[in-house]
Amino acid sequence: MYPDRVVSGMRPTGSMHLGHYHGALKNWIRLQTELPCLFFVADWHALTTHYDDPGVIERSTWDMLVDWLAAGIDPSQSTLFIQSRVPEHAELHLLLSMATPLGWLERVPTYKDQIDNLSNKDLATYGFLGYPLLQAADVLIYRASQVPVGEDQLPHIEMMREIARRFNHLYGKEKGFEEKAQKAVKKLGSKRARLYNELRTEYQQDGKDEALEQAKAMLDDAQSLSLGDRERLFGYLEGSRKLILVEPQARLTEASRLPGLDGRKMSKSYGNAIALREDKDSVSKKIKTMPTDPARVRRSDAGDPARCPVWQFHQVYSDKPTQEWVVKGCTSAGIGCIECKQPVIDAIIKEQEPMHERAQPYLDDPSLVRAIVADGNDVARKLALETMRDVREAMGLAYT
Ligand code: SF4
Repeated sequence: MYPDRVVSGMRPTGSMHLGHYHGALKNWIRLQTELPCLFFVADWHALTTHYDDPGVIERSTWDMLVDWLAAGIDPSQSTLFIQSRVPEHAELHLLLSMATPLGWLERVPTYKDQIDNLSNKDLATYGFLGYPLLQAADVLIYRASQVPVGEDQLPHIEMMREIARRFNHLYGKEKGFEEKAQKAVKKLGSKRARLYNELRTEYQQDGKDEALEQAKAMLDDAQSLSLGDRERLFGYLEGSRKLILVEPQARLTEASRLPGLDGRKMSKSYGNAIALREDKDSVSKKIKTMPTDPARVRRSDAGDPARCPVWQFHQVYSDKPTQEWVVKGCTSAGIGCIECKQPVIDAIIKEQEPMHERAQPYLDDPSLVRAIVADGNDVARKLALETMRDVREAMGLAYT
């Protein structure tokens, strides 16, 4: 019913590193060539854990945007914006909060994990409990059809879908819906109307998902329908409600995991990260001093790549022949660790060269980034306002 659209955001809580690049950004860069994408800086989300240190947010916001552009996010293909510049996210969050059961938020698995992982922070706050709901508002406000996520985020998407369903169920009903829907069916023309009714029956009586998909595709092609009739006919297919919010689909990220220099998760706070735009000498020094298989004390000792974090870098950065050279050379003590690390150093520097080049104009003239984001904020706000118009109307708040 609404155009396919991808929405995703990142929290600005520090500079970006190669773990972010391989874990998420590369996927965004691929997606932007396939579908319209909206990528946002989740600055309000950063406040859920950094409410006592907000200074880092402003700096990280602009650094992160330069990193995105450096990595290859193309503002002519994607919309880049800042969450807090589209205040309708907060309005939708508030309105959704009225009907969201507390238990839905408390059972999101990452909620408990985060509280345990960040035990040095007091996260027993209203904002932190509500962040999956703010995430839901971030996505639902754009009627996004797809959200790129890792496996651990799947429960969040499931909750977004439940929230959209609940909203449509509570607020999608209208007086005389059945009558209005049947009138809308007639507007399809007799041939299409017959097909619509047949497919609706097949879906509702026999549970045939293909019938639902076929009917939806037919409605997508029926250009002459008004938005209201379209919402009614989509809703009538599945029940007796208008579909105001769209249930997004999770799009599982095919990402290679790049660990930190010590083999743990790459994180600036662990001191094991390589920044996205780290300079060459520093990259070289960091890799050269990376720990290796602890059992390989002398050059003449054979090693085991499975116990070495450098091998995990080879798995991301090296081709098959190089990987075979590593395994053979390491297990037979045929190569030294310094020798083994060199192809990784070369590959990272090669990967980062175009990033440094793309970042330079934005570093020379920061107003370029400001302008890209100002345009993106306008595009996002326009879409958000369209949804909020329907949401306010459905909730009985459109009075003057
Ligand atoms: S040769 Fe390579 S894989 Fe083997 S221990 Fe040294 S750095 Fe690690």
